[in-house]
Amino acid sequence: MNLSKKNIAVVIPAYNESGNIKVMLDALHQTLSKLPYVYKIVFVDDGSGDATLETLKGLSATDEHLFFVELSKNFGHQNALKAGVDTVVNSSDAIITMDGDMQHPPEMLPELLAKWEEGYDVVYTRREEDQNLSTFKKKTSKGFYNLMNYLSEVKFEPGTADFRLMDQKVALVFSDFKENDLFIRGLVNWLGFKQYGIDFKPAPRFAGNSKYTVKKMFRFALQGITSFSTRPLHIAVFLGVITSFTSFVLYMGYIVYSMYYGHVISGWASLISTVVFFGGLNLIVLGIIGIYVGKLFMQSKNRPNYLIRETNYKG
Ligand code: UDP
Ligand code: MG
Repeated sequence: MNLSKKNIAVVIPAYNESGNIKVMLDALHQTLSKLPYVYKIVFVDDGSGDATLETLKGLSATDEHLFFVELSKNFGHQNALKAGVDTVVNSSDAIITMDGDMQHPPEMLPELLAKWEEGYDVVYTRREEDQNLSTFKKKTSKGFYNLMNYLSEVKFEPGTADFRLMDQKVALVFSDFKENDLFIRGLVNWLGFKQYGIDFKPAPRFAGNSKYTVKKMFRFALQGITSFSTRPLHIAVFLGVITSFTSFVLYMGYIVYSMYYGHVISGWASLISTVVFFGGLNLIVLGIIGIYVGKLFMQSKNRPNYLIRETNYKG
C-alpha cells in the first residue's frame, strides 16, 4: 500500500479558450477525483485576448486543484506547454500535457496513469485516422510524417499529438532543454526512456476555432524537420552534384556535336530556361542554408522561450 499519494499535474496550454475551460475542468475533476493521486490542473494562458485568464482566475479562487500561469504575451503552443511543464516539474511525480479544447479526451487519463504505474516513463498518444479531422488536415499530417521520417534521424509516428504523460525524471530532462524552436513530440521521441503509445479517437473541438492556421502548420513542419536533421543540406549538395554532372555531360555532347557539324547558334529558349532553372535551384539551396543559419542566429541570442507575468502555482 502506498501511504503517501503521488503528485500528478495536468498542464494545458490555452490560447483564447474561454469557452472550453469550464467544461474541461469539470471533465478533469470527474476523472481525477476518482483516482488515488494528489492532482493539480495548471492552465497556461498563452497571451489570450479573450476572457481565458479572467475565467481561470475566477475559478481558481474556489478550486484548490486549479492553477494558472499567465505568459507575458502569446509565445505559441509549444512554448506555453514548456512553461507549464517547467512550472510544475519539481513538485510532480508525473506530468500530463493536453490541449484545452476537449480534443484530447480527459477520460483517457486513467489509462495513461496505469501505464505509468506499470513502469513506463513516457506514455504518449496517437490520434487515430479519419474521425472528425478535415481531409486536408489528415492528408497534410500524413504527408508531414512521411517527409519527417524521410528527412530526419528521429522516427516519428503518425498522429502523435502533444497529449502525453511524462514521468518526473523525463520532464526534468525536457525542462533543461534550451532549444529555441521547440518541436516537443520530436524531442520526447529523441529522449528515449521507456515509452508506450496509446491510440485515441480525437473528439471535435468543443468551442472556438483551431489556432493552427495553414501557415502556422507549415512553419511548424519546417521547424520539426530543421530541428532534427541536417538532411536537407545533404539534399542540397546532392542536387548540386546531379545538376553540375548533367550540365557537364550536355557540354561534352555539345563539343562532340560541334566537331561534326560546326557551331550551332540557335537554342535561345533552352539557354534561358536553363539559366532560370539554375537560378531557381541556387535560391532554393541558399534558402535551405539560410534556414539553418537563421536558427543559429536565433539560438545564439539565448532568449528565453517564454516569460511568465503572473502565476498562483504553489508546489
Ligand atoms: N495554443 C496555445 N498557443 C497558441 C496556439 C494554440 O497555447 O499560440 C493551444 C490551444 O489553446 C489548444 C492547443 O494549443 O489548447 C492546441 O491548439 P488547437 O486546438 O488550436 O490546435 P489543433 O487541435 O487544431 O491542431
Ligand atoms: Mg485542437
